[in-house]
Amino acid sequence: MKVDIVTHRDGVEDVVSFDYAKREDRERPMVLDVLLQAQATTMPDLAFRYGRRARNCGVCTVDINGKPRIACRARAREGDRISAVATLPTLGDLVVRRDGVARQMRGRLSSGAQANDLNVEAPDAYHDLTSCIECYACLHNCPMHARNFGGGSPAHLPAGAEMPDPGTGYRWGNPFSLLKLQRIRIDPLTTEAGRQAALDHAVELGLEVCATCPGCKCGTGINLKGQVVGELLTAAGLANP
Ligand code: SF4
Ligand code: SF4
Repeated sequence: MKVDIVTHRDGVEDVVSFDYAKREDRERPMVLDVLLQAQATTMPDLAFRYGRRARNCGVCTVDINGKPRIACRARAREGDRISAVATLPTLGDLVVRRDGVARQMRGRLSSGAQANDLNVEAPDAYHDLTSCIECYACLHNCPMHARNFGGGSPAHLPAGAEMPDPGTGYRWGNPFSLLKLQRIRIDPLTTEAGRQAALDHAVELGLEVCATCPGCKCGTGINLKGQVVGELLTAAGLANP
């Protein structure tokens, strides 16, 4: 089975054709199997991330034919094009910088917001939102996140535009950051001040963009539109009538 693997070295993109040798005829390998075999054979310096192979850490997310997929969950198909996720800056090959999104959430909710990891009398929606595996696949096609890159993606910055520094956290939000904020809002341990701080933060991150966006999709099936974006828009008085 032949696939194309897009590599990034010193700012130069290259496409390498790799022929996966099936271990048995009926094998239907995952994309991560293909990457591991490529690294073990003809591409020893191929860089990519993976974690537990337990389908729940999300760090192996790559773009397959231009769409984000979790490599240990996605079946590889003949002719697939495997590349780094286009929504974040590439460090090398299939590895992207993930820290800008996490930094966006740090140190901003000290006015009473608390995380509830104790499962204290939380509503079902709270538990639904805890199933986020932080794969960042939902950043795909998010116009709010794209604002960080002049309306596009890191790979296609407008001429003359400067790459935002992930080290300081991105200015504009994304479905994942909204999910985290909504989770804080519906956590029974969060104070009223904390709920308001979370909502204010969502607005600061550009929540108004969501009012005219068709919505976002979660790679693991969380109802982002209904349980996150819709709830925040309504609470902030930004929902379309
Ligand atoms: S609804 Fe909001 S968070 Fe979701 S993709 Fe659109 S702009 Fe991004
Ligand atoms: S909301 Fe879904 S797609 Fe987004 S980071 Fe969490 S698990 Fe991944």
